Amino acid sequence: MQKVLKLLQILERHQYKDQGEKRPVGGHGAGVCFCDDSGNMVMHKVGKTNSSPAKDLSLLKDFAQQKSRIILGHVRHASSNLMNTVEYAEATQPYKVNCLDIAEVVSVHNGKVQNYEEIRKDLSKEHCFQSEIVKLVDSEVVPHLFEENLVICNDEDEARKRTSEMIKGSNTVVVLTRSEGRSQLHVLHKRFTRGMHLWKNNKDEIILCSREEPLQQVFGDLLEAGDFEKEISIEWIPYELRTRSREKLYQRAYKVIDS
Ligand SMILES: [Zn+2]
Repeated sequence: MQKVLKLLQILERHQYKDQGEKRPVGGHGAGVCFCDDSGNMVMHKVGKTNSSPAKDLSLLKDFAQQKSRIILGHVRHASSNLMNTVEYAEATQPYKVNCLDIAEVVSVHNGKVQNYEEIRKDLSKEHCFQSEIVKLVDSEVVPHLFEENLVICNDEDEARKRTSEMIKGSNTVVVLTRSEGRSQLHVLHKRFTRGMHLWKNNKDEIILCSREEPLQQVFGDLLEAGDFEKEISIEWIPYELRTRSREKLYQRAYKVIDS
């Protein structure tokens, strides 16, 4: 956990300034969701109240010492229309939902779901949105849409494909599903985002991050010691180089070993 917390602190300030990237990856909130000793997914999140939410997160009591085989972390950089939500933990990620009693769905998202209000309107009444105590955040429609698609498709791969088709814009989504003792990690990428890099080894262990440099800085030794190989490498693309032919579409499911 401590390595993840360190990574989040580096990641939230990471920015390709020399290539014209206008904003750092995070700075407006940070969170982690991890599997505890009893097999429950536990969430800790903070909004922006100081200069480094990732640092604030790392100072929360009792969990920095945790060891876990499954950890999903996120640093937030809010869209301009959501700047009034940054101090609220409810508006930051990950999100963990289970409104339809079909599976526990934990998601992290980067990008902008352009049609999020429309998706929200079309979802069934059973969903409960944490961010709505302040203002609906586009990232939060993703896990709810995924669980609704799980009900419709009754198949995780089909649900992921349908979710990918339904969300408009440039988006990276990582969704962990857990039901009946079985976990899967779904990864999808559309068009242009902050990036997506994923390593896997022959024990089916996975490490992923939007940025390669911070990940290498903190987990470089582990990647080497664990014989990890790069499986996905999607870079951030400078705005002026964004052409149709450079758009990246990717999606896949990975099995997750809980124990
Ligand atoms: Zn829901």
